[in-house]
Order: sequence, then structure tokens, then C-alpha cells
Amino acid sequence: MEKINFTDMGLGLSLSAFLVALTDLVFSLVSKRYDKPQNKVYLIQLGILKLNAVCGMVTTFTGQSKYTSDSAFAMLIVSRYIYFLTHALIPPVFFFYISNVTGRNFRRRGGGKKMDFLTDRFLLIAVAVNELIIALNPLTNWIYVFNENRQFKRCWGEFIFVYGYSAVWMAAAFIMLMCSRKFLSNSRKSAIVFCYIVGLAGVLLQLIYSKFRIEVFMETLGYTGVLLFVENEDDRMDVTVGTYNAAAFKLDIAAAVSNGIQTRLILVRNITCDEHRIIGSAESDYAPERAVAEYLGKLVGKHYIYSIGRGKLAAVLYNKTDSEALELAESVADCFGKTWESEEIKMRLDGRVLLVDVPERASTAEEVLYIADCPMPVGADRSVMSGSDLDWIVRRSAVEAAVRRGLKDGSFDVWYQPTYTIDKQLHGAEALLRMNDRELGRVYPDEFIPVAEQLGLIGEIDEFVYREVCAFLASHEPQRFGVGCINVNLSVTECMKSGFAERFTEIADRWGIQGKEVVFEITESVAAEDIVRISAVIDKLKSRGFSFAIDDFGTGYSNLTATLSLGAELIKIDKSVLWTSCKDENGGELLSASVKMVRAMHKKSVAEGVETEEHIEKLAKLGCDYLQGYYFSKPLPKDEFLRFISK
Ligand code: C2E
Ligand code: CA
Ligand code: CA
Repeated sequence: MEKINFTDMGLGLSLSAFLVALTDLVFSLVSKRYDKPQNKVYLIQLGILKLNAVCGMVTTFTGQSKYTSDSAFAMLIVSRYIYFLTHALIPPVFFFYISNVTGRNFRRRGGGKKMDFLTDRFLLIAVAVNELIIALNPLTNWIYVFNENRQFKRCWGEFIFVYGYSAVWMAAAFIMLMCSRKFLSNSRKSAIVFCYIVGLAGVLLQLIYSKFRIEVFMETLGYTGVLLFVENEDDRMDVTVGTYNAAAFKLDIAAAVSNGIQTRLILVRNITCDEHRIIGSAESDYAPERAVAEYLGKLVGKHYIYSIGRGKLAAVLYNKTDSEALELAESVADCFGKTWESEEIKMRLDGRVLLVDVPERASTAEEVLYIADCPMPVGADRSVMSGSDLDWIVRRSAVEAAVRRGLKDGSFDVWYQPTYTIDKQLHGAEALLRMNDRELGRVYPDEFIPVAEQLGLIGEIDEFVYREVCAFLASHEPQRFGVGCINVNLSVTECMKSGFAERFTEIADRWGIQGKEVVFEITESVAAEDIVRISAVIDKLKSRGFSFAIDDFGTGYSNLTATLSLGAELIKIDKSVLWTSCKDENGGELLSASVKMVRAMHKKSVAEGVETEEHIEKLAKLGCDYLQGYYFSKPLPKDEFLRFISK
């Protein structure tokens, strides 16, 4: 049997390793994977492997017999020397690669801990010392030596400074990988484990047959697996926008948080364009997002940009100070409301920019996505929202959710606040809504009513209150203690919807409620153009016997004569008017003018926010008709209210 020709085989394997590494390199470059730190480290690895493969070829060529010429021997010495020096770099570089893939390397920059800094220094020194030991081999012969036959011989040092040293690095990288496995997709994890197994097999084979130049080839194969599954980020990409996708965002933010890295996110949301694209291919639908993503990419690097939903992008800033981050966010915000020009588009874009500190403001990717989904406050301008603005958005969104589930959950509750005549006799009550949400607890109407209005749910809610009031009146309990009527607040926009008057009349009919038992309160700020429509509704309900009150008088900006012409019998003077009347002279004038005007128009006035005896004296002097306020009672739950008025 012919003896295995290690020379030819070694040459072939080295050449293959070289060609495979070269192919990997070409692939990386062609697919433009060279921007990220991770990509760069990968390319360095390939470079080292190629150099090793070349050394391997030279070694096999020159080291085949003891009759080598002097020049060939010199080449052999040099190639072995370079091989050992560079091959020892592979494990630490691989470790560094893994620290990039798992996101741990960002610790070093911005927000890095002192401990990490020291660890880094220590690792660097370890690499330098080991390289120095290898570099000094011609003097020490610790690692290898050429015998008198010019043949290569391993020494004890190889097992410590090459194999032992590599094993420690690879083990450390493996532990790091295992600690971060949650943040890697399965294909990524498998590829790295594959790289380990193949590389290890190569090392073992070469350890047994030292002439069998298989190590570098196997390592190169392992790296090819890494190229296919780790460097190739197709699964992390959002092809429609050309950025990373939301899944990648979740993994990367989770990795950053778990590694204790502080990041700041520029969230760009509500990205819209002012016109529909005429060339309507599916892809151009995303032209606005693409344009913004491109801009963000130029600003902070395109591998830090994620598309996190329709019209939403996130840019992750790893090593920026507060002011740098704000400056960047502002420069993005400045571009909105203007025309954007890029290869793909020329159109006006709009969007809102948020700056979110992770983990201070949002400690998980889900929280960030929640902020990105929260409804934008009405009238928010284009300035960057950060810090406490974000709390506001989050709260607002939570209240929205609470309002949406409120009716279904039964978290709304109607409370009653008694009203009195000027000589302190019980007169009626105002129904005031309360919300006790399962998550937020008690929420006050000043907060949830505007939200309900915005969500278009106020109609249903007002109707719920009205039904409760009808049921309460139908029990005849309040009437027994002298409550003649109960006031129900109405949202003006809802009353103008068709069929409103008919529906409310029908409900009263069903409960057998008399018209005089219900007073509807509407706010003063009715727009002039709505006056005609609202008047029609009021007239219909008045013909059923209901009466009306103008609420919050003295706060609106509306057409006074128009509101007063609405046919309301009662005018509720806002509590702020009463309170300022006690503070300064002009306030006093406003209160007395209001009461006088109401009298002059033959209507009745109600003063809200009556808290002191002094208030009552003042109102009595002015000739106000009714009183409502904490002086008598705060709004109370139904049963407590009954107990209170029964006394
Ligand atoms: P509003 O209609 O002007 O109701 C009067 C508000 O003044 C009530 O606040 C009441 O608790 C408060 N108040 C009464 N007397 C005093 C006082 O002496 N001192 C102080 N500090 N406050 C007093 P509340 O219940 O928080 O309601 C706030 C607003 O929410 C109401 O203002 C009303 O605009 C709206 N709202 C409440 N319930 C409903 C409802 O069922 N439907 C609609 N559409 N709006 C409602
Ligand atoms: Ca009211
Ligand atoms: Ca009021």
C-alpha cells in the first residue's frame, strides 16, 4: 500500500483553506458586510486564516526533507515563525468576535464599568505577553525547535502557550456565549457551536498527525459556517425598509440591558408623507420610512437602525452623552415638515421624535415598543420628546387602555355631589363620574374625560351615567330626602349626533322619569357654528320637560350671547371665578358681573366650588341662587350620598 503523502495532502489542505477563506472574504465584501465592528473582526479572522494557510503551504513545500537548501530552510523558519505568531491570535480574536456578536463589547464604550475596563486591560496584556513568548522562541526554543536535520520539533511550551492558551480563550468565549444565549437566534447559536466542533476536530487531528495540515482548513470551514449564519443577517433584516427588524431590536435591547449597557434610543414615529405616491409598487409604500432610515443611518451608522413597526424607526446610540444624543435627535426632528430628497423620493415628510434612555425610562424592548405605540398627545409639536414627556405619554396610553376597558370592566361609578339653595336648603345633586381601574386604581375625570372624548367613547360613557341617574331617580330614594333634580354632564359633540334626543327621551320614558328631575349640563365653549344644531337638540329635550345648565361659565372663550341664547335655565359659574373673586378686585368684578348678567337674563345662577362661609356670604350678597361645593359635601358614592342627605 502506498504511504499517505502528507506533503501533497498538506499542500492541498492549505491551498483549500486559503481558497475557502478567500471566498468568504469575497462574499463578505460583495454583500457589503464590513461596516459593523463585528464584521471587521470577522474579516480580521479571515485575514489571519489566509496568512496561516499561506504559511502552511510554504512550510509543506520547504520542510519536506533534510536536504533542504539554505534558502528553503530560511523560508521554512520564517513561515513557521509567522504561523505561530498569528495563529495564536485566532482564539483571542474569536473571543472578541463573540463579545461583539453577543453585544458585550459595547460595555467598553459609554457607560462601561471600571471593572470591564480593567478586565479589558488584563486581557490585552495576556495577549501581548503570550505573543512576546512566541516571538522570543528563536532564543528560548520553548515552543518549537529545528533539529540538526533541519526538522521541526515541538517543545513543551507549545502545549502551554499554544494549546493551553487557546483552550482558555475558547472556553471563555463559550461561557460568554452561553451566558448570552437568550439574545441569539437558534441559527446563530448552532453556527457558532458548529464552528467550535469543526475547529476543535481540526486541532485534535493536527495534534495527533502534526504533518497533516488540517487545522487551518477546518477552522476556515468553521468560519464559513459563521459567515452563513452569523454574519449573514437576513433573518434580522426588514427588507421593506432596509434596516434591522423588530425581532432583532428586541434581542439587541435585551442584550444591552442584560450586559448593563446604557443606551439612548432615538425613536422616530408617526412617519408620514404628505401625498400618496403615484408610482404605487408595494415597496414604494415604505419610501418615507426608507428615506428616514437612510438619514438616520448616515447620522449614527446604518447597523444601529431598526424598523419597529409601520411608520416607526429606532436608532440605538451606544456611546453618546445626553447632549450629543439630544443634538442628534433634534437634527432629525428639524427635518420634518420639510421636503426630503433622496434617490427614491422627493416629498414632504412628517414624524415625531422621541429620545428614550434605556434602561432608565424603559428597561425592556417591550417597554420601548409600548412608548412607540402610545398615542401622541394632541397638539404635540415637532420638538423632541424625552424624559418626563415620555412618562406623560405612557400615562396617557395607560389611561386610554383603562377607558377602553372601563365600561366592560364595570370600573365606572357614578358619585353625587349635593347642591343647595342660597339659604342652605338641599336642592339637588350633580352626577359625577369616577373610575376605579384594575391597573391604575382611581383615576379622576379631569384626566379620563378628555381621553374618552378623544377616543370617541364619551357618548357611551355619558349615556351610562344618564342611565344610572335614571335608575337612581326611579328608586325615589333621593327624592325622599329632598333632592328635586339630578344634573348630568353631557359632551356637546355627542348631543349633536343624530337620534340623541330621541334616545335620551326613550330612556327616561322607560324609567318613568319626569322631565323636571333631570338637568343636563353642557359647557360654555360651544363653537358658534354648532349653536344652531345644539339648539335644535336642546329644544327637543326641553319639550320633554328636561332643563339645561351652562357649565363652567366664565372660563370659555365662546360667543357669550350665543351661549346664553341656548335656552338654558341655569348658569353654573365656574369655581375659578369664585376663587379669584376672593383674591383680587378684578376677580370680584367678574363674579358680580356674571351673577348680575344671569339675573338680567332671567336665568338662575349656580356657584360651584363653594368651600367657605365667606364664599356663601359673598354669593348671597350678589344674589346668587344655588350653591355647590366642599363646604357642603364632596361628591359621594350613591349609598354614602343617601346617608348624607338623610341627615
Ligand atoms: P364639572 O362639571 O365642572 O364638575 C365639577 C367639578 O368640581 C367636580 O370635579 C367636583 O368634584 C369639583 N368640585 C365641586 N365642588 C368643589 C369644591 O368646593 N372644591 C373643589 N376643589 N372642587 C369642587 P370632578 O368630579 O373631578 O369632575 C371634573 C370634570 O369632569 C367635571 O367638571 C366635568 O367636566 C367632567 N365630568 C365629570 N363627570 C362627567 C360625566 O359623567 N360626563 C361628562 N361628560 N363629564 C364629566
Ligand atoms: Ca358639571
Ligand atoms: Ca363646572
